Order: sequence, then structure tokens, then C-alpha cells
Amino acid sequence: MFKKILMLTLVLCLILFCTSPVQAQNKLEVLTTSTEVNFPNDLTFKISAQSDVKITEIRLQYSIELLGFAQVVSEAYVQFSPSTKVDTQWKWDLVRIGGLPPGTVIKYQWIIVDASGGRLKTSLAEVNFDDSRFSWKTLTEDKITIYWYDGTQSFAQEIMQSAQSSLARLSENTGAYIKEPIRMYIYGSDSDLLSSMIFPQEWSGGVAFTRYGCIAIGISSSNLDWGKGAIAHELTHLITEQMTLNPYNELPTWLDEGLAMYNEGPLDSSFTSYLNQAIKANNLISIRSLSSPFSAYADKSYLSYAESYSIVDFLISTYGENKMFALLDTFRQGSTYDGALHKVYGFDMDGLNTVWQKSLTASVETVQASKPLVFEPAILRWGYAW
Ligand SMILES: [Zn+2]
Repeated sequence: MFKKILMLTLVLCLILFCTSPVQAQNKLEVLTTSTEVNFPNDLTFKISAQSDVKITEIRLQYSIELLGFAQVVSEAYVQFSPSTKVDTQWKWDLVRIGGLPPGTVIKYQWIIVDASGGRLKTSLAEVNFDDSRFSWKTLTEDKITIYWYDGTQSFAQEIMQSAQSSLARLSENTGAYIKEPIRMYIYGSDSDLLSSMIFPQEWSGGVAFTRYGCIAIGISSSNLDWGKGAIAHELTHLITEQMTLNPYNELPTWLDEGLAMYNEGPLDSSFTSYLNQAIKANNLISIRSLSSPFSAYADKSYLSYAESYSIVDFLISTYGENKMFALLDTFRQGSTYDGALHKVYGFDMDGLNTVWQKSLTASVETVQASKPLVFEPAILRWGYAW
């Protein structure tokens, strides 16, 4: 009998022990949550919660929506004094990560724990990291949305038309096409654009945030022609990223920049001057060297862009668009630079270097005398991508 009573007591204790966290959880509740965007510097997440016992732990789980293969969820532990009612916040200092492009979507949820072991997880919510310092108007066509605040509807329509024709040109020459939506933020001036960035480069007239599907650029009606070329260039970077993204390898720089230059249209004379001079002086940069990031020195940088254009032009005009599409598709599978070229064209980087340079030597005789070199910092302005 005594044993039976002991057993019963034990069972009751176990039941009580097992059910107590559930009872506590029922009294643990979130009263309000909110966010405060302070573009481009920080984003604050706020929460108010209460329980019948002290709340001891509050965490925020958040992730950035971007093009990729694995979603990275980060976690922040919020500092506060344990209490039955807590109003607290966590400020995400974006200066420390170099900022986020306008319109980035951040998904988040709160986890709250109280002293009795009660635990609550809020449902997944999202916040748009908008640059609300300006009153944006929008224009959407297919997968492209233009955001602008300065200029008429026809100004935006002209940019849209130019962007759509650059997509058509890219598709015709390489088979590459837009897979994911792209946002284009047209700032009214360079200074407005610079003010949207945490660490702006002086020459950043346009930025491609390739993994975010976003372009930010400074265009007014006075530099619209420059803007159209820059948009064609940046759009190409975004689309080649969509076409080739893989966890193993990136595109060689000459291909990435060469496609972007090629899609802008014929090479500007300031670039051809550098190219012609290098051909005559026999000091072209090798394709193997152009596979790494380009030199920061202006003259070498000009030549690198010009050569990249020329290599892509050579590949497309000699071997056709289907081969270029096959090359991009091979890179999508994570191929090495030599491996991809060999699979599609039958030569590696050195082999390509040889046949491409031969084609240049053959045509150099017809090249006009070089124009005087003109330094145009604007050209470097769109070689900026991350
Ligand atoms: Zn570029």
C-alpha cells in the first residue's frame, strides 16, 4: 500500500513537472512588435512582451533575402533586465556590414523565454529596408521595376525602354535571360546616390548589387545617355549572376566585364585607343591575368575593360551565341575556367589567348591612328559590383 501511494505521488509529481512549462507558456505573450528603418545606417527591431514570471531571454532571428543556394539565419541576443513586462529593442548597425541596398527584404522572428521555461516564437515577419528619404514612384514591366523620384513619367519610360532593349540584345547574343525580378533605383544625382551608401567610392555613379537583384544609379535628364549605357552594363552583371550562380566558382572577370561592356554596344573610342596601343606595343594583358579582379590603376583598368570587350566580341562573332550560352551554363555547374573553355570551345585560357591575339594582329593594320587619350573617370564608375 505504501509503495502504491509512493508510486502515485511520483506519477503526480511527474505530471505536474511535465505540464508546468505549458502552463507558463500560456501566460507568456508578445504585446507588440515593430521595426524602424533609418536608411542607410541602421534598422531597429522593437518588442514588448509579458509573462506571469520574469522574462529572461529574448532573441531575434533574421535573414536577408538574396539570390543564393543556402539561406543564412543570424541571431541576436537582446540586452534587457529580466522582468515580467519587457519593452526592448535591438538595433542592427548596418555600418558594420557595409550597408544594404534599398528595398532589401529582411525576414525575422522573435524568441522569448521566461523563468519557468516557457518559450514563445513569433511567426515569420518581414520588413523592407526602404530609402524613405525620397518619395519614390514606380514603373514595372515584366521582371524589371524602376524606382525614381526626380523626372517625369516619360523619363522613367525611356529608361525602361532602354533597359528592355538591352535585355533583348543580351538574349540575342548570349541566350542569357532574366530569371528573377530586378529593382532599379534611379537617384536624381550622384550626391543623392552617394548619400545612400555607407562607404561610397567617389566614382560610384552606379552600383550593381548582384546577389540582391538591385541596381542603384544616379541619373538626371542631363546624363540620360550615360545612364542608359550604365544600366545596360549593370543589368548584364545581374543577369549573368542569375544565370551562373553556383557555390563553387565565379565567372572569370574578363567574361563578366566583357559581357557587360559588349551589351552596352560598340566600344567607346577612349577604350579602343588603349586596346590599339597595346596591340601595337605588343603588351596586351593575358586572358589568364584578366581572370582575376582588374588593376585599380586607370590605364591598366581601361585596357582590361577594352580587352574583355574584345575577347567576348571575338568569341560571339567567331563561334556564335549558342556556344556563349553553353559557356555560361558550364560555369553554372561550377566548372574551372580552363575546364569550361575546353568543354565548349576545345581550348583552355592560353589557347583562347593565342587565337584571340591572332585575330587582333590580323585586323590591327586597318585600325586608324589612335586618338589622344582622354581620362574619363565616369568609365570606372560602373565597374563596381558586389
Ligand atoms: Zn562591370
